[in-house]
Amino acid sequence: QKFVYSFTEGNKDLKDLLGGKGANLAEMTNLGLPVPPGFTLTTEACKVFLETGSEPASLHEEVSAHLDALEREMGKKLGQADDPLLVSVRSGAKFSMPGMMDTVLNIGLSDASVLGLAAQSGNERFAWDSYRRLVQMFGKTVLGVEGELFEEALDEAKAAKGTTDDLDLDASDLQVLVDTFKAIVLRETGRAFPQDPRDQMDLAIHAVFHSWNGDRARLYRRQERIPNDLGTAVNVCSMVFGNLGEDSGTGVAFTRDPSTGAVGVYGDYLSNAQGEDVVAGIRNTLQLSELEKLDKKSYDELMAIMHKLELHYRDLCDIEFTIERGKLWMLQTRIGKRTAAAAFRIAVQLVDQGLIDLDEALHRVTGGQLAQLMFPRFAPDASSKRVAWGLAASPGAAVGKVVFDSYTAVKWSRSGEKVILVRRETNPDDLDGMIAAEGILTSRGGKTSHAAVVARGMGKTCVCGAEELEVDTKRRRFTTADGQVVEEGDVVSIDGATGKVYLGEVPVLPSPVVEYFEGTLHAGADVQGGLVQAVHRLMSHADVRRRLAVRANADNAEDGGRARRYGAQGIGLCRTEHMFLGEERRKEVEHLILADNDKDRESALGTLLPLQKGDFLELFQAMDGLPVTVRLLDPPLHEFLPDITELSVRVALAEARKDPNENDLRLLQAVHKLHEQNPMLGLRGVRLGLVIPGLFGMQVRAIAEAAAERKLAGGDPRPEVMIPLVGTVQELEIVRDECERVLAEVASSTGVQLDIKLGTMIELPRAAVTAGQIAEAAEFFSFGTNDLTQTVWGFSRDDVEASFFTAYLEKGIFGVSPFETIDRDGVGALVKHAVEAGRATRPDLKLGVCGEHGGDPDSVHFFHEVGLDYVSCSPFRIPVARLEAGRAAL
Ligand code: ADP
Ligand code: MG
Ligand code: MG
Repeated sequence: QKFVYSFTEGNKDLKDLLGGKGANLAEMTNLGLPVPPGFTLTTEACKVFLETGSEPASLHEEVSAHLDALEREMGKKLGQADDPLLVSVRSGAKFSMPGMMDTVLNIGLSDASVLGLAAQSGNERFAWDSYRRLVQMFGKTVLGVEGELFEEALDEAKAAKGTTDDLDLDASDLQVLVDTFKAIVLRETGRAFPQDPRDQMDLAIHAVFHSWNGDRARLYRRQERIPNDLGTAVNVCSMVFGNLGEDSGTGVAFTRDPSTGAVGVYGDYLSNAQGEDVVAGIRNTLQLSELEKLDKKSYDELMAIMHKLELHYRDLCDIEFTIERGKLWMLQTRIGKRTAAAAFRIAVQLVDQGLIDLDEALHRVTGGQLAQLMFPRFAPDASSKRVAWGLAASPGAAVGKVVFDSYTAVKWSRSGEKVILVRRETNPDDLDGMIAAEGILTSRGGKTSHAAVVARGMGKTCVCGAEELEVDTKRRRFTTADGQVVEEGDVVSIDGATGKVYLGEVPVLPSPVVEYFEGTLHAGADVQGGLVQAVHRLMSHADVRRRLAVRANADNAEDGGRARRYGAQGIGLCRTEHMFLGEERRKEVEHLILADNDKDRESALGTLLPLQKGDFLELFQAMDGLPVTVRLLDPPLHEFLPDITELSVRVALAEARKDPNENDLRLLQAVHKLHEQNPMLGLRGVRLGLVIPGLFGMQVRAIAEAAAERKLAGGDPRPEVMIPLVGTVQELEIVRDECERVLAEVASSTGVQLDIKLGTMIELPRAAVTAGQIAEAAEFFSFGTNDLTQTVWGFSRDDVEASFFTAYLEKGIFGVSPFETIDRDGVGALVKHAVEAGRATRPDLKLGVCGEHGGDPDSVHFFHEVGLDYVSCSPFRIPVARLEAGRAAL
């Protein structure tokens, strides 16, 4: 098995094997772009390492062969004393994990070769700067020395010189610093900094493999749902130097603005700097456009390369480059992360440019991004006090209490506070805090800083580089330009779309995308750089593509109306329990439950009937012409009765006062009788209909009479009656008989022909297993995947999410809660079986799903695959479901 590939051997489609960075370095090499030569150790080698604890046996020799070839090509040997070849050892997994794993630059420098490098380059300062960077990076990432120790020594050296700028340290300062760093390494690890270049390289490779399982990397993967077993590749790349003087430098660039999608020149550049300096926000960077003045030749070449890359990848690319004494080198490219708005705009722009078709454009946007675009945005009013204006790094409107470290962010957010993490700049150690925060605010760093890149990746609001803020993490406060002090716990509002920062809470406005769905904003409206038009075009294409219909879970006319505006093709779940709530209705429900004879019971039902009918009339009118699936009463009855403790106290007090209330006493008896240890597995759903005579009959009558009345008024009502929690076909048959009888009665008494389908929910494992039999008595199935997930796993949703789910997620038992995304292997397998068995019995059986999963992107794809007819979800998620149903059909 081959474990090492030269950059000339790979290509962009080998991401699984070479990681994203390696695959794209190879692609750029083969495109003839200036990439420093090098080679890639595969993810397969990493997997062997992860499984066995050591690298594959043949790896050392394979690396030697590639190193030999590299040395021949470069005309010098790794670490050669008089003229050293230096390399970087860079991590690079299939999915980019910015700054999460380790990279070491300047490998090959030693006490001997640093002198050679100085002589060869004629720049002593540069040589010692490179060496101190090597000892620092190597010490931290390979040898595990606390990074702060180096930082502090560096700060002391600068302080001794009376400066805060690295560039003021000269060659001899840096030489002293190297000694200090080496002493730190020796003290902290008990071994000297390795002088043998090959040892350095092998140790660094080992460290990169190892870093795959570092805490930071694991946390990031969990957050981004990247599988744990992919492993990382390692790239060994010959060094080029941006720290050789003013005619050198390093930068990052995007082919389009990653926060808006606008075409143009976006990036940051830092002269006389190396690698991480730009992203770490150590010094303030220049805008890329300023490079044109500094070095026109390199700038023009960079523009040409960026153009070429964009046409080649047919997408927004992000790029790392270095200029060494006026010569441009490409160090990395990849399809760039972008904000949700940019994703929609860019996809449509590329269609208009003729680079991709609409299918591809639809493939490139996600329901998650659409959901983000539906969040409200700030509408500052006269009283809003703006205190800073930073860079719009990742959009959103975030309000929260200011915190200054990751630990506090996590702690406060756990106790339910919304927090804004404020840092001078973030680094990978801040990841926990960034996840916990509503938004991130930094005073340093550009749109390519760590904070900006990671926030965009997470879809989190971020304002960065708000330079007028003086952030003092030690004293937990920041000071604004006009001297105002903001302490930990004070509330701020940060606008990631404009970069503006306000004190206090700023009011919000609905997003234009929501206004578009609501119909209050025309699809052609020119807002936010064509965002609404982009959404409109991709939604329309999704509607053309999708096979799944999308319905809404809505219980009343208002929600139904909204769902309709959002594109719902009917109601997939109308719960009826709210029709039993409210002062007046609750009284009647109490009477119904307390009734011990037919007369009382019928009287209670008789009072409820017109009330329910009224609800249905409104709903059918709002949903005229579209199917409305009404679920008969599902929850246990005790939910409609007073709380047992409260009632007991009331009765006890009344007794003490010697003034017992007859009704309360009977109620308490009933509550005791209905009290269950496990109400979710108790008297509910179809069981209620079987035990309480006339209950379901009354509900069906209300539906039928409302439908008849609508028809007589010229409407087109299309109700469907759904029986919940059926476990066996016998239950369904009995209820079905009653329903059919009522329907026939209403039809004959009103003279209106009613065509009302009767179906059931499949939400118990037994129902799924015996779906073939159940389909005999059901004209449709609707999968209740919430209950089905509870009963298949034996999890009580209301309890487990707070108790052990966090532990399960942390241990990787599941990557995401099965209540959020359908568990394909377990719950999904039952759904699949029920679909097949049901259709075998009744080929025209209608199939849908009405659990929370109906609006979850991944789950929608599953429901498409197993061949359901529709998904049903809450009105606000309808656009997401439409989009994902379209994507699923591509
Ligand atoms: P990350 O994945 O965190 O971006 P990289 O492997 O890309 O890590 O490297 C970190 C920094 O070092 C980047 O800015 C990169 O451009 C720079 N770098 C990496 N290899 C070289 C090299 N051979 N010559 C010069 N700079 C390099
Ligand atoms: Mg990089
Ligand atoms: Mg249910």
